[in-house]
Amino acid sequence: MAGSDLPQALGCELTPTGSVAAIDAMGKSSVPGVFVAGDIATEMNQLIQAAAMGAMAGAGINSELLAEAWEARGQVAQG
Ligand SMILES: Cc1cc2nc3c(=O)[nH]c(=O)nc-3n(C[C@H](O)[C@H](O)[C@H](O)COP(=O)(O)OP(=O)(O)OC[C@H]3O[C@@H](n4cnc5c(N)ncnc54)[C@H](O)[C@@H]3O)c2cc1C
Repeated sequence: MAGSDLPQALGCELTPTGSVAAIDAMGKSSVPGVFVAGDIATEMNQLIQAAAMGAMAGAGINSELLAEAWEARGQVAQG
């Protein structure tokens, strides 16, 4: 999504060079629920880098969704 203004529209924090800032190794952005990977989040601009970041972001998203599901399950169990 390099060249897209969607991250700014969502309120994502940018780096001084204009990339979307990831706040952890899983590609989490400053906006809850928004993960970033690839050209929009790095100046490397290489396919392998984008793919690696995409894999990490996918794992991060999955982890966050599982945590939410476990939390919801716990709340149901507590009544
Ligand atoms: C001419 C050229 C040659 C290159 N050669 C090499 C090379 O030899 N080796 C190498 O490693 N890398 C190369 N690269 C870099 C490589 O292509 C990129 O690093 C890689 O494609 C980045 O992947 P990405 O998924 O981050 O972004 P992209 O591949 O740019 O994918 C982003 C996608 O998001 C879509 N998008 C944008 N805005 C929106 C929106 N608002 N809503 C929905 N979709 C949207 C775009 O249409 C696009 O399909 C080259 C790049 C170019 C331009």
